Amino acid sequence: MSDLRKLDIQYLKGVGPKRAELLASELDIHTFHDLLYYFPFRHIDRSTIYRIADINGDMPYIQIKGRFITFTVAGEGAKRRLQALFGDGSGTIEVVWFNRVKSIQQSYRSGVEYLLFGKPTAFQNHYSIIHPEVDEYKPSQPQMGLQGVYNLTERLHSRAFSSRTISKLVNTLLATDAVKNIAETLPASLRESRRLMPLHDALVAMHAPKSIDELHRAQFRIKYEELFFLQLNILRYIKGEHDKLDGYKFTQVGSYFHDFYHNVLGFELTGAQKRVIREMWTDMCTGRQMNRLLQGDVGSGKTIVAFMTMLIALGNGYQACIMAPTEILAGQHYETIKALAEPLGVTVALLTGSTRKRQRDVIHAGLQSGELQILIGTHALIEDNVKFARLALAVIDEQHRFGVAQRARLWKKSDTPPHVLVMTATPIPRTLAMTVYGDLDVSIIDELPPGRKPVHTVMRYEDHRYDVYRFMHDQLRKGRQIYVVYPLIEESEKLDLHDLQAGYDTICEQFANYRVAMVHGRMKPAEKDHQMELFATHQAHILVATTVIEVGVNVPNASVMVIENAERFGLSQLHQLRGRVGRGADQSYCVLMTKFKLNADTRRRLEVMTETNDGFLIAEEDMRQRGPGDIEGTQQSGIAFNLKVANLATDGQLVQLTRDDAQAILNADPLLESPQGRRLDAQLHRLFDKTVNWAQIS
Ligand code: ADP
Ligand code: MG
Repeated sequence: MSDLRKLDIQYLKGVGPKRAELLASELDIHTFHDLLYYFPFRHIDRSTIYRIADINGDMPYIQIKGRFITFTVAGEGAKRRLQALFGDGSGTIEVVWFNRVKSIQQSYRSGVEYLLFGKPTAFQNHYSIIHPEVDEYKPSQPQMGLQGVYNLTERLHSRAFSSRTISKLVNTLLATDAVKNIAETLPASLRESRRLMPLHDALVAMHAPKSIDELHRAQFRIKYEELFFLQLNILRYIKGEHDKLDGYKFTQVGSYFHDFYHNVLGFELTGAQKRVIREMWTDMCTGRQMNRLLQGDVGSGKTIVAFMTMLIALGNGYQACIMAPTEILAGQHYETIKALAEPLGVTVALLTGSTRKRQRDVIHAGLQSGELQILIGTHALIEDNVKFARLALAVIDEQHRFGVAQRARLWKKSDTPPHVLVMTATPIPRTLAMTVYGDLDVSIIDELPPGRKPVHTVMRYEDHRYDVYRFMHDQLRKGRQIYVVYPLIEESEKLDLHDLQAGYDTICEQFANYRVAMVHGRMKPAEKDHQMELFATHQAHILVATTVIEVGVNVPNASVMVIENAERFGLSQLHQLRGRVGRGADQSYCVLMTKFKLNADTRRRLEVMTETNDGFLIAEEDMRQRGPGDIEGTQQSGIAFNLKVANLATDGQLVQLTRDDAQAILNADPLLESPQGRRLDAQLHRLFDKTVNWAQIS
């Protein structure tokens, strides 16, 4: 059987070197396989013929049958176009071409009946169709059913490459022996139990289905296949790396926990917090290593939960650590935890890249003697010279900045790997969590502490800026503090910094009686800390910042978050930023400023923010709108989402189904050694060898 991945597209009949170059540069199609998997983005129904008289304002692509009556060349230069009048007895419609004027005029004859396919648009009291597909009408031919429409680029259009051209090439391809004999990739047992079309039939139907139903079954088969191999790959990796690792076995909750719970904790835990603590306690009693993802919305109280879990480790005579992605965040955790730990007599230290050598030596000694019980820090924690006497629990905050391999380095800090608790900054959609953090069990805090007032969120255009300033003055007079955040996007960092500086200057002018602090990622850590400190201690009233304040920062008196150029942020990021306010007793506000009138899509996207404060809903919506590849964290985590048909946002049930099926196969054949297993293994290699390997993510 010939491998379609090795057959160069230029050797497909009808392609040749010139077209091959175009296909490669424009559509990334290099081989027979690439073209076979270049699916139409939609299908059009060519089984109905409309009457011109019935055309109305909001029709999709339609088909009409009639004759060309006149051809006229109009306009000059770039506006030169060919206009034709086309009639079917019920009425006439204008047809327009902006290129290839001459060749088109020569190719269609009056008097001959044609089928025209296109989208009618209203123009000056009449309808016209621009660049329709045209076929000679042949009554003897059966009516065509569903026809694929392929995405093309401008350059392809200008080279007379149409969706139809691709269709023809695909038809040629489908008729080759290589495709006819394509190897089935899924085991017969699965095809049977899940009623999946054979691969070959599904591929044919993806391009040229006989009916909508057949198209749906083909899509299901292809989606299933994509997700199944994705899950099989993840689960196999997890099996190899994590399964059956022995862990520390805790035997008691211990006195630190009880002391804290009864004497220090100033509020009642929410039901969700209690449940999650119980889940972790259960894990840590089994003698197996815990690997758990803790999800909860901003402000749901993950930190307390993490701290109490650490107290359990301490109560069993062990040490614990927290790793945070930034120095600011590590510092904040340190302050919070130190305050909670001090009354218990628990020792806590902070270790970051800027910790002095002398202090570092003291910390190292304390860790090795076991005297130091909790270490909080940044990446500095995973350096090799940091050695614990008895590390039994590692908490990783704001997971998406760390990869699987970094977690693995923490395990190596002692012979028995510590229990690992990963906390996310904002909720991640379930299907994505299952895929990206597939190696972790999941606990969810789905309840906010009582008495929280939801942040009131509004959208404001640039021309309402002065109203926004008035509102800010109002809040400042009441003693509140305010964040003003600017986007900072890598590629245009200089420009953005300029925006930030200009914004800062304006704020200083407008709020001359108040002190304004500023932080951004390009600052020296010491300067950044100083500016943050000014704001945290209420010496500064307004903080102008980039997204460096996104994670973790906690200033309860701040009640207003103004986000500039809000349209440039993703929803999850906006939600995370908004989570900086609403932490105190006062009603808080979030103002999404946008520079220009927005297009409908962007507007709808931002409206989600004004409609809900639920981080899980927002995360789902964010993924629906931008696709999983753009969700923060998935790129850094290095997992290539090469899904062509399946969608993690909308195919959640199928994600679960394929995961179960992949798990069942691995249970029966853990090393994929059976004949069927070996075929699956070979397919995994074909699919994933070129992309990033799970085992190498760092
Ligand atoms: P997260 O890290 O999940 O965003 P935090 O742990 O920072 O949230 O908690 C936010 C604030 O809520 C903190 O000031 C914390 O002390 C407080 N808090 C946590 N749990 C409760 C609770 N059950 N009742 C009242 N306040 C709580
Ligand atoms: Mg937090």
